Amino acid sequence: MRLETRLAQIGTKKETGTGAVSFPVYFSTAYEHRSGGSTGYDYARTANPTRDVLEESIARLEGGDEGFACSSGMAAIHTVMGLFKKGDHFIVSIDLYGGTYRLFQKVLSHYGLSFTFVDLRNPEEVEKALQPNTRGIFIESPTNPLMRVIDLKAICQWAKKQGLCVIADNTFMTPYFQQPLLLGADIVVHSATKYLGGHNDVLAGLIVAKEKELAERIRFVQNSIGATLGPLDSWLLMRGMKTLALRMQKHQQNAQLLADFLARHRLVDKVFYPSLDPAGKKILDEQARGYGGMISFRVKDAGQVPHFLKNLKVIAFTESLGGVESLLTYPATQTHADVPAAIREKTGVCDRLLRLSAGIEHIDDLVSDLDQALEQAAIQTGWK
Ligand SMILES: *Cc1c(COP(=O)(O)O)cnc(C)c1O
Repeated sequence: MRLETRLAQIGTKKETGTGAVSFPVYFSTAYEHRSGGSTGYDYARTANPTRDVLEESIARLEGGDEGFACSSGMAAIHTVMGLFKKGDHFIVSIDLYGGTYRLFQKVLSHYGLSFTFVDLRNPEEVEKALQPNTRGIFIESPTNPLMRVIDLKAICQWAKKQGLCVIADNTFMTPYFQQPLLLGADIVVHSATKYLGGHNDVLAGLIVAKEKELAERIRFVQNSIGATLGPLDSWLLMRGMKTLALRMQKHQQNAQLLADFLARHRLVDKVFYPSLDPAGKKILDEQARGYGGMISFRVKDAGQVPHFLKNLKVIAFTESLGGVESLLTYPATQTHADVPAAIREKTGVCDRLLRLSAGIEHIDDLVSDLDQALEQAAIQTGWK
């Protein structure tokens, strides 16, 4: 079955009793052992019928063996890190979601895990970061917020030789555009709060593991930690996912047009979108089915940023992404505020950088909103 079909039919034909097309929400936390034994459900932290359907769906969509639904993207990443132990070291993308950076550096480092942040596009840097106790690599591709494309296939091949576990955060691309497990990754994580949910109304995280043995270990950690997704949120997420294919096509179409518009704008210094970067485009043309709906851009003058943000009328100045509504984020003070300024400057997440999540609105409204907000900001700061 093709991805679009799988997505549209998430949860259908699963409920055998009544024939319900939309899979029911099972709120019960406890399950009776009527004939003395378990029905497969005992207690809702361990398994819940609604969550099960979601977990099975995401496993199929990512081409993995088993899926796990968690209470947020961070809960999903934390659960995966529960596979490791004191003394283990990780190689991590230097351009990374700020919350993941915070979890690694400010929480998990206290439990004896250590992390080296490198530009994963550079094989020499990656090689140099390898230590005898390195156990895994954590990858975002394209990275957040600089949209750097990592050669997932090459990194996974190298990691396999070193015996490392490759964990890929596929939030930006979703399985509609990219399936890291098929490129060699061992585990995929998602902030399903973003594109998979798609409507800015459900906080959720997902994990998919490639092999049964690895999946069993994740199941054990998930049940032990207990950061599982509730039944109603599981249902909301499945409802959102049904339209993922349509939404991703429109997100990408708008993103490409907005990136082209911004690249031509007199007040914009540089635009970061995978198809505008020849090296990144080449990798995605071979390893993915699209470039996604996320754009970052640098304006020429940091002093114009506060004015620009205030002048936006259609696009919302907000700290998230991936929903039907276009959202604009200022990484320096929002998503990446926990990354020290020196590291932000070094990686390019400077105070002139803005991140745009292209929604599914009409392109003309988005273009004219960006244009008027930029031009107003220029007038307000005395630019000609
Ligand atoms: C938002 C996000 C996360 C964290 O997910 P939550 O659902 O907010 O906990 C992780 N990775 C990426 C790439 C994200 O955008």
